[in-house]
Amino acid sequence: MRFNMKKFILGLIVVSILLCISLLLAAIPYYQGIPVLNYHQINDSAHNALTVTTTQFEAQMKYLAKNGYHTITPSELADALENNAALPEKPVLITFDDGYLDNYNNAFPILKRYNMKATIFLITDYVSVYPNYLTWDKALEMQENQIDLESHTLSHVELSKTGSATETLHQLTDSKKAIEWHLKKKVDFLAYPCGSYDDETIALVKDAGYRAAFTVQYGANKPGAQMYALDRIPIFGGNSHTLLRFKLRLNCVPVLSVLNHIRTYMIRNIHPGLAAFIILP
Ligand SMILES: [Zn+2]
Repeated sequence: MRFNMKKFILGLIVVSILLCISLLLAAIPYYQGIPVLNYHQINDSAHNALTVTTTQFEAQMKYLAKNGYHTITPSELADALENNAALPEKPVLITFDDGYLDNYNNAFPILKRYNMKATIFLITDYVSVYPNYLTWDKALEMQENQIDLESHTLSHVELSKTGSATETLHQLTDSKKAIEWHLKKKVDFLAYPCGSYDDETIALVKDAGYRAAFTVQYGANKPGAQMYALDRIPIFGGNSHTLLRFKLRLNCVPVLSVLNHIRTYMIRNIHPGLAAFIILP
């Protein structure tokens, strides 16, 4: 692609204006939204982009506790977003995708120590089947200790790419039924595998009886949010999860989500190389 100076300068001006606006909005509490943290694995052996070390996870929970955050459930989040129900001061929803065994072994003891609630989205066909994933017994024990278990489909298929509404609906309804049967609770929430969804997926998620669904799009949620495309704050995507990165992602949502949108726009419409200059923590 040929470098276009005019387009580049125009791009810089747009970016600067958006940044100024987002910095102003960031000062208003309403625009902070309610943060939903998104974890996957917590362990000290798998050094991949989805893993946060146990020490780092503990430091992050300690930071939340020390700074007056209060953990909430997905139902409390939905009640606040839909009906303006009251929430505790500095609410935060902690979520884990996929249902790894290390959530039980490593994250659960820390969450208990800090008396924190959290939510795990299970791939139900993997539960009590693969050694690296949770068992129904462990899920039940966690449920009795402030951990909410919700759906991440039957087998982690990308819901916008199943090629058939019947298959998508099967993934949505049967995973919901599996958790409801094993854990004797109602399942109202979904996390899209790989953040994959489209308008048709949303219609099917509603048909399957879910109340809301979570994406992997960076951002925090404000009243009036699209309930089937709720934003989260990914605590993954890099190999070093420092406390500084965590604090920036948690506390600078309005600015960073605008930057993230600009970067996505630049990758798609301007120049992927230029997008690399927008560095997100
Ligand atoms: Zn997943």
